[in-house]
Amino acid sequence: MVETKVKELIPQEAYSELQAIVGPEYATTDRVICQAYTARGYAREQMWFLGLCTRPACVILPKTTEEVARIVKVCNRYGIPYTPASSMWVINACPRFRDDFVLIDLKRMDKLEIDEKNMIAIVEPAVIYGQLVEEIMQRDMYTLVPGGGSQAAVIPNHLHYGICPLCYRIPLSDYRMNAAEWVTPEGEVVRMGSRLAGENSWFWQDGLGPNAMGILRGHIGWYGSLGIVTKMSVKLYPFQPERMEPEGRSPETHSKLPSRMRFYNFTVPSREALAKAMDEISKAQISAMAQKVPVSGG
Ligand SMILES: Cc1cc2nc3c(=O)[nH]c(=O)nc-3n(C[C@H](O)[C@H](O)[C@H](O)COP(=O)(O)OP(=O)(O)OC[C@H]3O[C@@H](n4cnc5c(N)ncnc54)[C@H](O)[C@@H]3O)c2cc1C
Repeated sequence: MVETKVKELIPQEAYSELQAIVGPEYATTDRVICQAYTARGYAREQMWFLGLCTRPACVILPKTTEEVARIVKVCNRYGIPYTPASSMWVINACPRFRDDFVLIDLKRMDKLEIDEKNMIAIVEPAVIYGQLVEEIMQRDMYTLVPGGGSQAAVIPNHLHYGICPLCYRIPLSDYRMNAAEWVTPEGEVVRMGSRLAGENSWFWQDGLGPNAMGILRGHIGWYGSLGIVTKMSVKLYPFQPERMEPEGRSPETHSKLPSRMRFYNFTVPSREALAKAMDEISKAQISAMAQKVPVSGG
């Protein structure tokens, strides 16, 4: 990558160390490339993201957990702030009030493995929901896709949000995370859940000793999560075997529902009747998704 020396926002010595970790191809302080890592680079002028984030001083693209850990250690040694990005979807909505930080772009960490028998997927940070769902639906399994869209990455969505109307049936993401590989804020690699029992053990959130997975969960954006998750196993759920067939011509396309699935829209006379209906539907466990839609229009 090309270098542009305008103002030294991070010490040259630190930058040389960062470059040595990933190779010169995968680290840069080039202002033009770094500018692409701000909200304006995404032409989101109409969205609430506008102007929130500043240009990073350096962008670095690691390939392995060990590289991530080494980057974090260098940043700590020089007192340089850093932030990870998996898909860059919501990170641009996060306020960054300084320009002397390193952005760790995890897009080169893109492995996706599906353990069909145990109904889990083992993902690296760059795997997005679109890729995951495409693969698992071919195996008669599903999981949620957040309202933010299938371009959201699976790991940060499990860490920060992980909600959609299907959570009526599928639990919130706290319960969908299994074993994980985590780089702590100090740059140590920690293996959590059943991963403690061995390299290939990804099936369980609990492991030997106390369950510390809660430390990974934040609420949204930067508000909570710690460190960098480099691998996670997530639970998958059984779906019916019929294919979801696309229908229509772009942009007016949709998916034809399999014969066993239907949308039911109905009105109820009062709030009390609504509460009773929801209660009965839940007890009978007959819906994938049950939600109140506000009355609108005339
Ligand atoms: C219009 C809109 C609607 C949305 N609706 C919903 C919804 O209905 N349901 C829902 O669940 N979500 C929703 N979201 C949130 C969306 O799913 C998030 O984008 C997602 O949770 C985070 O993934 P990301 O791909 O955006 O990650 P990124 O933009 O890459 O990162 C988001 C945050 O996670 C941190 N991060 C990234 N990777 C890692 C990592 N590997 N380890 C630790 N921290 C990391 C980043 O530093 C940043 O703070 C919505 C978002 C938008 C913009």
